[in-house]
Amino acid sequence: MAFEKSEKQNVFERRESDVRSYARNFPVKFVSSSGATVRDESGKEYIDFLAGCSSLNYGHNHPVLKKALIEYMERDGVTHSLDMETDAKEAFLLEFEQTILKPRSLDYVVQFPGPTGANAVEAALKLARKVTGRENIISFTNGFHGVTLGALAATGNGHHRGGAGVALGGVTRMPYDNYFGDGSDSAAQLDRVLSDSSSGVDAPAAIIVETVQGEGGLNVASFSWLKKVQSIARKHGALFIVDDIQAGIGRTGTFFSFEPAELNPDIVTLAKSISGFGLPMALTLIKRDLDIWKPGEHNGTFRGNCHAFITAKAALETYWRDKKFEQEISEKAAILENALSNIKDENSSLVVGLKGRGMMRGIDVKSGDIAAEIVTEAFEHGLIIETSGTDDEIVKCLTPLTISNDDLEKGLNILTQAVRTVAKKHTQQAA
Ligand SMILES: *Cc1c(COP(=O)(O)O)cnc(C)c1O
Repeated sequence: MAFEKSEKQNVFERRESDVRSYARNFPVKFVSSSGATVRDESGKEYIDFLAGCSSLNYGHNHPVLKKALIEYMERDGVTHSLDMETDAKEAFLLEFEQTILKPRSLDYVVQFPGPTGANAVEAALKLARKVTGRENIISFTNGFHGVTLGALAATGNGHHRGGAGVALGGVTRMPYDNYFGDGSDSAAQLDRVLSDSSSGVDAPAAIIVETVQGEGGLNVASFSWLKKVQSIARKHGALFIVDDIQAGIGRTGTFFSFEPAELNPDIVTLAKSISGFGLPMALTLIKRDLDIWKPGEHNGTFRGNCHAFITAKAALETYWRDKKFEQEISEKAAILENALSNIKDENSSLVVGLKGRGMMRGIDVKSGDIAAEIVTEAFEHGLIIETSGTDDEIVKCLTPLTISNDDLEKGLNILTQAVRTVAKKHTQQAA
């Protein structure tokens, strides 16, 4: 059936819920993508500095991952398997064990929750409560852990919390590292309130933390603060959970973001780039002795997304069997840091700070409106980039980790020019 042009026009606005968000900043229709490039229906190309919010760390349609998936589909490999055993799941688990867990001396059992980050967090929080018999969870200011009710209770963002419609309970929020910006030690404060039985903060089942707060504005926790928080969790009988959904899978330079901090979390959540291909998949990694789940206690229909297992395995095999990829990420991170630092130096009236770590970096322009102007200006010139932070005041670079130096430079040039243009406009207005 052919659709009338008038029917086709604006079906998104006519038929799709107002809940859509990214579509508003990038009002074109995308039709194809490869590597770090996305194309719209007019053939215009965009460099992708959003990469599915770090779900596409290996870029769009990675040829090796795509080939593995096509071959699997061509031979009628099982698509959907609930949580039954398949060769696809076996191959993933073996690769994950050999390439990721063993070399890092981590003995996690792998839970496949429903295939979203929020569900991995739900599983982690439920299990921590079940293991400890406690209800309270400690999470941190500006933390983001997903928008289902359990995960949302641990999330700071007021806009998202406002959508809940019920009380978001069972969580106590504490200040993240350097929250006050005055050098005060928020880990010591945490230890103090947990040590005082009359502080009013109930003994926690778990402390959940991001090593770099992705949605919260690229706030970076120091390794020493993270280590302290881990030992505070241990001291007070709470599980230590690292939510590595955005900062993990190489985004900050190592497979797990907590490797350089030498942490040993009790539970780790992964999602976003674990499938490597943008396919839904999530993992909750659990220390063996804490795996007290009863069969099916936390279940979900789409836990056995075999297509995601195939691409996830291919990604681990291609990039993580040796140290070469980490080296490449570190080189690209240096290029990115250098470019952002130049942008800041050149536009010091507009850009007040640099944020982030590894390939998870951005510039702080202190105003959501200015950040939005930069995003719009960049988009017009062929760059997809987004913001994060309390007021969306951080312009955030999440390029594919596999981006070529050429594309990285191209994108950074567009961003540099966009900041310049917006800075100029604001100096003219001020004059
Ligand atoms: C994106 C994200 C989540 C939620 O993942 P969804 O797949 O969107 O549910 C949780 N934690 C962190 C740190 C995230 O960045």
